[in-house]
Amino acid sequence: MEITFLGTGTSQGVPIIGSDHPVCLSEDQKDKRLRVSILVEWDNYTYVVDCGPDFRQQMLANNVKKIDGILFTHEHNDHIIGLDDVRPFYFKQGDISVYAHQRVIKALKKRFDYVFETVNKYPGTPSLKINEINDTPFTIGNLEVIPVNVWHHKLQVYAFRFHDFAYVTDAKTITEEEVEKLKGVKVLTVNALRKETHLAHFNLDEALAFIKKVNPEKAYLTHISHLLGFHAEVEKELPENVFLAYDNLKIKI
Ligand SMILES: [Zn+2]
Repeated sequence: MEITFLGTGTSQGVPIIGSDHPVCLSEDQKDKRLRVSILVEWDNYTYVVDCGPDFRQQMLANNVKKIDGILFTHEHNDHIIGLDDVRPFYFKQGDISVYAHQRVIKALKKRFDYVFETVNKYPGTPSLKINEINDTPFTIGNLEVIPVNVWHHKLQVYAFRFHDFAYVTDAKTITEEEVEKLKGVKVLTVNALRKETHLAHFNLDEALAFIKKVNPEKAYLTHISHLLGFHAEVEKELPENVFLAYDNLKIKI
């Protein structure tokens, strides 16, 4: 399985528009972070987790020719708003499969009402094949996915375990029972916003404590704010099996 980090930034991306913060002004490519998303590829399957405002750019940057589906973690704007840009895939492949919690599907119907129109639907509009998911494992292609509940302040968010790899974003708290579902993964990705605490996101210390608990061979941090610091400097401070993800990084599992 190959994972591509399509975006590793927090909701505003890095740099932030108009910002004079040194990290926003950095010339290091690794300090440029699009909104968070990953591409998951194995055999001939290609899935995307989340579909934020940078989706089009991310598909172009990685020359993605087809997608077999999109898994949504939750309905915040930085995770869903690129959905209209599945059009080129829809024109070639037909209805695009999406996998999401019932609440997220409801949000998609509100934000993209025209996509769900049944009468006089505009011909250029994409169509989706909706797969409602709950806490039960489900199958994409030939792979079982285990949904894991994490909490983003008071909002439930799905993390996903794909066999030896797990992707956790927008987490602030997680119950012991859900942590158990992640144990045994070889590679864990988890959100780490910045060093100071935040109401709805793990800060660096909380992310590192969570990694210790799950105890994977390797971990990658994502959903990063400019406030975390320069990529090159923060990497030096991390335990030896923990890395900062950066845009377009590919890892094999
Ligand atoms: Zn987010």
